[in-house]
Amino acid sequence: MQYLTFSNGDKMPVFGLGTWKSAPKEAYEAVLEAIKVGYRHIDCAHIYKNEKEVGEALQKAFKDGLVKREELWITSKLWNDCHEEAYVLPSLRQSLADLQLDYLDLYLVHWPVAVKNGVDFASKAEDFLSSEEAPLSKTWTAMEQGVDLNLTRHIGVSNFNIAKLKEVLYTARIQPEMNQVEMHPFLPQQKLVDFCRKNNIHLTAYAPLGSAYRVIDKEVDFPILLENETIQAIAAKHQATPAQVAISWGIHREIAVIPKSVKAERIKENFEATHLLLDKKDMEQLNRLEGPYRYTSGRGWIREGSPYTIADLWD
Ligand code: NAP
Repeated sequence: MQYLTFSNGDKMPVFGLGTWKSAPKEAYEAVLEAIKVGYRHIDCAHIYKNEKEVGEALQKAFKDGLVKREELWITSKLWNDCHEEAYVLPSLRQSLADLQLDYLDLYLVHWPVAVKNGVDFASKAEDFLSSEEAPLSKTWTAMEQGVDLNLTRHIGVSNFNIAKLKEVLYTARIQPEMNQVEMHPFLPQQKLVDFCRKNNIHLTAYAPLGSAYRVIDKEVDFPILLENETIQAIAAKHQATPAQVAISWGIHREIAVIPKSVKAERIKENFEATHLLLDKKDMEQLNRLEGPYRYTSGRGWIREGSPYTIADLWD
């Protein structure tokens, strides 16, 4: 397994399990299965509403001697309704309680968008808090306190574009060490990658398989990543699957990759991608695919009446 090394020497396994849209019982089974297969990195979030079950799976894995806490990398995320300073640490502590852990390895600000406490997804203008009402700088100060209190070893952000990263970097005492964003061969985000590298910010690719359900559910009208002919041809050449090629492409770029699955055979298939070596020609071909196609539109955050615009989300 390859790792991303943080400035204090901590090592994050470059490959992990995503848990969004995993129903609570499925999340329990998937996390346990993943740990058995060899996964050592689990990507969680309060808003996935399954952290309790992930926590139960972790406890079972510890009890059965499958793994020790210090061998795992656990990430969680601060939801948008807890950006106000008073809610940040309680939210971090809630995730720790649900996950039955003493500390997180990484805690991320999930989106650069704030809503009122108790709102999951904004449906009207009054649900939002503007960046004046909930400034990112204050949210970040509270995130830094999470590190000071040893509740999390590292802090970072998610869905932050270059402008939003600069905003946090400008006032940060502890710099964000991770930006988790949508990334796959249809959305390489090279400019953002270059900016993050220059500023010692690691990247994690979410939707590394292209979240096909967003196309199937007609949320967006883009081609399905894993049906791309180039990806399929490279997969055939290596006797691998398209999903393994997409995962391996991310790892070859030294970016963490967190595919989600609740199916045992796919959990294993995806893990085996960590052994797939792509050659220079494969990478060149994958870097030249059509697109960019962004499957996560973020349109719910910039709906009519929202104080946020597309410039707050994507470059
Ligand atoms: P994804 O991992 O690209 O795709 C997941 C979908 O692919 C699921 O429908 C899964 O179905 C299917 N799948 C899994 N393995 C497969 C394989 N080998 N072949 C074919 N299909 C396969 O998308 P994602 O879940 O949106 O993203 C991954 C993780 O990133 C999330 O779970 C979450 O942890 C994180 N994430 C973060 C954000 C953020 O805002 N920070 C946003 C989105 C996602 P089955 O489960 O049925 O196998």
